[in-house]
Amino acid sequence: MTHPMDSRRLAYLKALEIDVWERRGLAPSAPTAAPVPARAPGQVQLGWAELERAVKSCTLCPLHQTRTQGVFGVGNRNAQWMVIGEAPGADEDRQGEPFVGRAGQLLNSMLKAIGLAREQVFIANILKSRPPNNRDPRPEEVRACIPYLFRQIELVNPQLILCVGRIAAQTLLETDTSIGKLRGQLHRIAGNRPMVVTYHPAYLLRSPGEKRKSWADLLLALRTFEQLAGASPGASS
Ligand code: URA
Repeated sequence: MTHPMDSRRLAYLKALEIDVWERRGLAPSAPTAAPVPARAPGQVQLGWAELERAVKSCTLCPLHQTRTQGVFGVGNRNAQWMVIGEAPGADEDRQGEPFVGRAGQLLNSMLKAIGLAREQVFIANILKSRPPNNRDPRPEEVRACIPYLFRQIELVNPQLILCVGRIAAQTLLETDTSIGKLRGQLHRIAGNRPMVVTYHPAYLLRSPGEKRKSWADLLLALRTFEQLAGASPGASS
């Protein structure tokens, strides 16, 4: 993608309510974080069908008692981009699909802004079951659930991971560093796969002034992807 600020993008940026006049070309190169040691993938070695069945019938943590259903993940199972969020909310719990509420609408706009349709990426969460009242995931819930996500990453084999939100970022990077410090740089997880962190769309709905930083993160992700793949973000996905 050689002309990132084409008219289509301008339209998307306006839809995101980002002041387009404030952006002058691509953001400067972001510092690259020291590679995080490749984390051992989970023990789960299932194929797609078995993995989906396992998630939907999972009783490994108490959240299965309060969820409506396990929310597996959605999208292109051969995607070049994978989006990872925190956990299903009320809408996702009801519909069985990640990011379908208002935050999901904004996520769709964010993806569109870098030329990606929702259907082109694979979207999943750290937790597959909704925590009651949308409370933060508990460590034991994450420990029980995260092997499913690591197996999804292995199966999708994305070129780039976009991690949205503090909880997902801190969990995947095994740190308590603030998201303000984690965003804006390139990380490596799950076998040295590149990952860019940005704010959660639900946070951006509450704090629209942060959308410009999120746009810079999306551009970092896009630039990283283009350098790796030498292609437009949706190519062959
Ligand atoms: N927030 C998330 O992190 N994931 C969802 O699926 C919905 C909201």
